[in-house]
Amino acid sequence: MNFELSAEDRAFRDQVRQFLKDNLSPDIVRRARTEVHPPNEEDRRWWNSVLNKQGWAAPSWPKEYGGTGWTPVQRHIFEMECRLAGAPELRWQGLRLIGPVICEFGSDAQKKRYLPPILEGTEQWAQGFSEPGAGSDLASLKTTALLDGEHYMVNGQKLWTTEAGYSELGFFLVRTDTTSKHGGISMLIIDMKSPGVTVRPIEMINGDISTYEVFLDNVRVPRENLIGEPGSAWTQTKFLLANERTSSADIDKAYGDLRRIRAIARHEKKNGRPLMEDPHFRLRLTRLTLEVEALDWSVLRVLSGAPSNYPRASASVLKIKGSQLQHRLTELAVDALGPRALRLYNRADAFAAEPSALWPEHTPGVMADHLYMRACTIYGGAMEVQKNIIAKQAFGL
Ligand SMILES: Cc1cc2nc3c(=O)[nH]c(=O)nc-3n(C[C@H](O)[C@H](O)[C@H](O)COP(=O)(O)OP(=O)(O)OC[C@H]3O[C@@H](n4cnc5c(N)ncnc54)[C@H](O)[C@@H]3O)c2cc1C
Repeated sequence: MNFELSAEDRAFRDQVRQFLKDNLSPDIVRRARTEVHPPNEEDRRWWNSVLNKQGWAAPSWPKEYGGTGWTPVQRHIFEMECRLAGAPELRWQGLRLIGPVICEFGSDAQKKRYLPPILEGTEQWAQGFSEPGAGSDLASLKTTALLDGEHYMVNGQKLWTTEAGYSELGFFLVRTDTTSKHGGISMLIIDMKSPGVTVRPIEMINGDISTYEVFLDNVRVPRENLIGEPGSAWTQTKFLLANERTSSADIDKAYGDLRRIRAIARHEKKNGRPLMEDPHFRLRLTRLTLEVEALDWSVLRVLSGAPSNYPRASASVLKIKGSQLQHRLTELAVDALGPRALRLYNRADAFAAEPSALWPEHTPGVMADHLYMRACTIYGGAMEVQKNIIAKQAFGL
């Protein structure tokens, strides 16, 4: 395998770097680099619109709907450069999840209505799949949508609906047929301002609110908001979750974390010497760096469709490895900062801490990020469930 970028890809990377340099202000970069979840919503919407003007908001979409036509390697370079330059992280629900589903399965009217605002960043989406009692076993979901003339009447409860509190729209899995388990599930677009939609925040371990409970009580949803045929959502869901798990490798975040850890280690002292000179610390950092690079190449192999003996298990492998690395990277950042990590416990603290000699730019948000990222082995498909998929798909167990 050739580990060097081609001349064409190097030129592409330079073009992206120049664009980022021209468009990102130091303030935006500082906020993005604190990495407290969820990132600043205004910055994300603004960045979405800047990228859209350049035609770069949705690189992975088919070109006819606004994609860039880049190769997988170029898409990867783009994401990496954005992260390293300190660009705001874009909302993934619209651009990465429902956008591609609408491109693939939506009606012409749905494509016309919903795709442009996703590209512009003017409408943001929430993913309403999980319910109490239906997380890993998603097909057990109980929310019903019963046809009543030209509307569906929706009743039920969703749980862990990330960013629902400030999303304009949601894509929900609902049961349109109660007699068939998988074949009775449909995907419905719901306006989050509809009467009967109640959104309740869930406070996370880091003191932040990024995910919500959503209650749906007699919500009337136009029939044309159904994606595809009634009962076809299981196919759409598998398509969507495969996209989610590949991006769940979170490789660009991992590189951003390594960058932050190095900044901490250059600044912090151990026995009067920069932490970076401590052999034990350097060993941990080097190991993690190599593992991140190995994962990076694995992601590239999957994205570029390289031959694999277990193609259907690869998304799960990337998800597991990426999540495990997130735990270790954020843990190393906390260890590197030492007791000072404790003070910066939550978002309010993180943002109150102006950069100074005692609290330089690399300190805010380290603990909050570490605590939030404990959840990454659960969201997007829990670890044990991913292992079950690998056992079945790769080893036929
Ligand atoms: C921060 C966060 C954000 C989220 N955002 C969203 C979102 O935006 N939209 C959305 O729809 N959902 C979201 N989720 C929900 C997430 O997808 C579910 O939490 C996840 O699928 C696990 O489901 P569960 O919580 O019901 O746990 P359960 O399915 O009850 O699992 C509990 C434990 O049992 C294990 N387990 C379950 N089944 C098996 C099995 N067959 N074999 C072995 N072990 C098993 C699991 O691995 C886990 O450890 C989010 C979750 C979190 C924590």
